Amino acid sequence: MKKFAFTLLLMLFVLVLPEHGQAAAANNKIFLDGKELTAGQSAPVENVGGSVMVPLRMISENLGYKVDWDQASKTVTIGQTGTTMKLVVDQTAASVNDKTVVLTNAPLNRNGTTLVPIRFISEQFGLTVSWDNDQKIVTLITPETGGSNTGSGGGAADGGSTVVVPPAEPAKNLTMVNGISFNENRLTIAMEGNAVPKVSRVSGPERIIIDIENATFSDLFGTGQVLDPNLNGSLAVTGYPDVTAVRYSLYNTNPYTVRFVIDTTSYKNYSVEVSGDTSRLVVVDLNAVSTDNPSTQPGNNGRKLVVLDAGHGAKDSGAVGVTGKYEKNFNLAIVLKAAELLKKENNIDVVLTRSDDTFLELKDRAAMANNLNADLFISVHANSSGSSAASGTETYYQRESSKALANVMHKYLVQATGLSNRGVRYGNFHVIRETKMPAVLLEVGYLSNKGDESLLFSESLQNKVAAGIVSGIKEYLGLK
Ligand SMILES: [Zn+2]
Repeated sequence: MKKFAFTLLLMLFVLVLPEHGQAAAANNKIFLDGKELTAGQSAPVENVGGSVMVPLRMISENLGYKVDWDQASKTVTIGQTGTTMKLVVDQTAASVNDKTVVLTNAPLNRNGTTLVPIRFISEQFGLTVSWDNDQKIVTLITPETGGSNTGSGGGAADGGSTVVVPPAEPAKNLTMVNGISFNENRLTIAMEGNAVPKVSRVSGPERIIIDIENATFSDLFGTGQVLDPNLNGSLAVTGYPDVTAVRYSLYNTNPYTVRFVIDTTSYKNYSVEVSGDTSRLVVVDLNAVSTDNPSTQPGNNGRKLVVLDAGHGAKDSGAVGVTGKYEKNFNLAIVLKAAELLKKENNIDVVLTRSDDTFLELKDRAAMANNLNADLFISVHANSSGSSAASGTETYYQRESSKALANVMHKYLVQATGLSNRGVRYGNFHVIRETKMPAVLLEVGYLSNKGDESLLFSESLQNKVAAGIVSGIKEYLGLK
């Protein structure tokens, strides 16, 4: 409540004093195709380290875009049919149609107005832009009108200080890096597009560098991994004594290059395998010529990728149990335990849609599995019913091609829970409908039933269910 009141106060402040802070600014003007957008008022335009910053809403609305502002996340969303851009105040990374682009300067907030570099306007809206520093005039020209009109106030002809930024071609056909995982001494990078990685080894300290040119991070990557505002991050790697860290960054924007670095404790041989057509998996295998792990010889054809999906998360608790326990926590506990077990399997890679209490849209869960070209998708849930008597275990499939997996998984699940067998059922659930590989949704038990709830939140049952899931996966994949 307090936060709300404060926000309200801020809003009032902005409403009551709209010109606060701008009065002192120079008398800036903005012209779009000769029309003055500023209508005699001064516009907040700033020169920040040589980058001219202009008001985003004023310009994009005049170009026919819809502009939304989310105070909580400090995000501006700009939309038009087929185009969505998202910018966050103080973050250089923005998203344009689910692609990450990097601004020369982070957007600024000035008294409720978001300012962005003029170059962003040029690149994303295809405008020719210029800034007359003497007269403080921004001139914007849309491609349709050509370059003949420099605006009624433009001083381009006589002033020597005009900077013209021609419309830049937005980066096209970028490969999207969707996710990474590190298992069994292998770094797996999932991406959409046809970029070919360049892999090299550098000494002092020892590291392996993977550069993917003409590529950027997709929004999906950010949902699975941490990306800081400068588009850097690292993957927690534990249990691999040769590897101290796996780092990643948007290393360059000209051309756009995503870089991964594997920090190793010593000189390591590696092999690289790229599979898939446009949905690609890049595997950098550090077991390549090592002799200490005979189970993983060069060439990892035949390795299977399993995506485990813990239902719900964060604001979406899922079912709430009889004593108030949340389904989301049960689901997460199961997939974390199952993933730990699967990591010990030589022929299975595992990727989690979420590994902590975060929220993911259903479509992002399915997209993750599809983009990874996963072999199996298993979504873990617990059920709830209006009748407190309802109890037992169900397994759902949606597509005919998932039925065989459902039958195998259900057998092990019922064995693990010891609850009543409520059968393998058809269910039209998004994540098992929109995925392209065999996919099932497990309803392990009923949280609305006191007995089921207490069982589902017991450590020993969770271990059994995780082991049952692994047994089912192995049987279905023919690995046992
Ligand atoms: Zn659920």
